[in-house]
Amino acid sequence: MARPVQYNNKVKMVEIPDGYSGEGFYATSFDKAIGLARKNSIWPLPFATSCCGIEFMATMAATYDMARFGAERMAFTPRQCDLLMVMGTISKKMGPIVRQVYLQMAEPRWVMAVGACACSGGIFDTYSVLQGIDQVIPVDVYVPGCPPRPEGIIDGFMKIQELVGQESLRRRNSDKYKELMESYGIK
Ligand code: SF4
Repeated sequence: MARPVQYNNKVKMVEIPDGYSGEGFYATSFDKAIGLARKNSIWPLPFATSCCGIEFMATMAATYDMARFGAERMAFTPRQCDLLMVMGTISKKMGPIVRQVYLQMAEPRWVMAVGACACSGGIFDTYSVLQGIDQVIPVDVYVPGCPPRPEGIIDGFMKIQELVGQESLRRRNSDKYKELMESYGIK
């Protein structure tokens, strides 16, 4: 005999976006519905070069489990991903590669710099290390720490989710966004 399914009462559904409801109807804006879907189905591209990458592995494993945020589908194919997570020391030689990966991602795309090295070069104030990936690509969220704990990475990820959920569908066509891209030499 089939056993009845046991549901865990702690499982939460995503929150409903602001809108209007009445008897038998609920209405919201297109922006909010798209934002809700996007923020709960982010596909990360991990660009991990050193120690911070190990923290990321822990973040993806069972205890911290990024799948809870709808972000378990990692890929190393830039065209299929919308979140570039740069984790580790990036040498100046590697800067153009990070940039190339970013350029290969389709819009809308977001970037998270994880750890002191990706944010600012960290302890490596040397001739060979890039002093922050924002010298080659725009960054949306910086996660401090050397290395940041998985909780820190998850906190940064939730900040990205906030940005994604609230982003206007027109932002990528705005003059301000074009200016930002042009400041990085991206057309
Ligand atoms: S921030 Fe610290 S832990 Fe992370 S890659 Fe740099 S040296 Fe390693």
